[in-house]
Amino acid sequence: VKIAVLKETRANERRVAMVPAVADKLIKLGARIQIQSGAGDAVKLPDSAFKNVSFAADARSLVADADIVVAVQPPDIEVARSMKEGAILVSFVYAHKEVELTKLLRDRKITCFAMELVPRITRAQAMDALSSQAALAGYYAVLIGATNIARMLPMMTTAVGSIRPQRTLVMGLGVAGLQALATARRLGAMTEGYDVRPETKEQAESLGAKFVDTGVDARGAGGYARELTEEEKAKIAAVVTKHIQSADVIVTTAAIPGRPSPKLISKAQVDGMKAGSVIVDLAAEGGGNCEYTKPGETVQVGQVTIIGPLNVPSMLGEHASELYAKNQFNLIELFLKDQSVKLDWSDEVIAKTALTHAGEIKNEAAKKAVD
Ligand code: NAD
Repeated sequence: VKIAVLKETRANERRVAMVPAVADKLIKLGARIQIQSGAGDAVKLPDSAFKNVSFAADARSLVADADIVVAVQPPDIEVARSMKEGAILVSFVYAHKEVELTKLLRDRKITCFAMELVPRITRAQAMDALSSQAALAGYYAVLIGATNIARMLPMMTTAVGSIRPQRTLVMGLGVAGLQALATARRLGAMTEGYDVRPETKEQAESLGAKFVDTGVDARGAGGYARELTEEEKAKIAAVVTKHIQSADVIVTTAAIPGRPSPKLISKAQVDGMKAGSVIVDLAAEGGGNCEYTKPGETVQVGQVTIIGPLNVPSMLGEHASELYAKNQFNLIELFLKDQSVKLDWSDEVIAKTALTHAGEIKNEAAKKAVD
């Protein structure tokens, strides 16, 4: 079985889908690995760090005879077109944003496992790249916040008096948000967390944070949040505004599957924020959680800074690649058996992660988005 590893080409993408430790494990399973030259350059992982693999310069010839192609971002159309019929692709896809690619994968009978479709079940945790990457982003968002205020987060006692600890508010307590709370706390900030799923109260408190309780319960399907009604939004604003306006660093992470990012911070709320404070909006990719957010930019509104970073996991590209490659390995191990590919469609992880197979789009939501 030949596994091809693509070099990433998209803007802001620095990760690589293979690291030496994972390559070794795949070789032990009987795979041959060919890597596009320089694939790890952006994370300072030179080709020479990989042992017992071969290299190719051109992506199209690299994938032409590969049985499995791995990448972080969806491949370019021309590269996907060069894959052999019936081969396997493992990468993030987000079919609703990649309609042409998804149709091509279907028509070329590629079996595509889309990393964003890995089910959020206990058995699949080791394959869950959304979670591994979100955890890194949550950590890094706090560092971005901390280095964009002219203050320290922790308390400090000095000869000329004490400096009080600063306040960090995290809005949206999924994987990224909880990691942000933990990080801010480790840096000595006073931490507060807020979410519309009530079960996050206990999770926030276990990380030493105060929970901002609005009394709104917006639990939706599958452990995610649903969209809020106008009444709920008003009820929340009444409680949350004073927490927004007393924070030094705010990290927002809120997302609703398949919908644009919910707006958690209005322009009016920003206008009343403390001078010198900062919002780091991890939802910028989906339009942002703050009405002022501009994806990929830093906006100054009065004395408040609103940062909308894109592809935050890539800013920690080395660890992001390591965790991502391990997530992919755990998935590939499910179907790489006795030196050949065996797909067990009764396995929930295989069935749910498949985006396309044998000329069909297997994921219902993707099918609707594409057709
Ligand atoms: P996400 O990225 O979809 O959303 C981030 C957070 O934003 C969520 O906590 C959500 O409740 C919150 N949110 C949405 N709208 C909001 C609003 N209007 N105001 C405030 N907060 C809002 O979340 P995620 O990190 O992907 O996690 C989603 C769920 O999946 C969580 O319940 C998590 O525990 C669960 N999960 C389970 C597993 C597993 O069992 N294997 C793995 C990972 C995540």
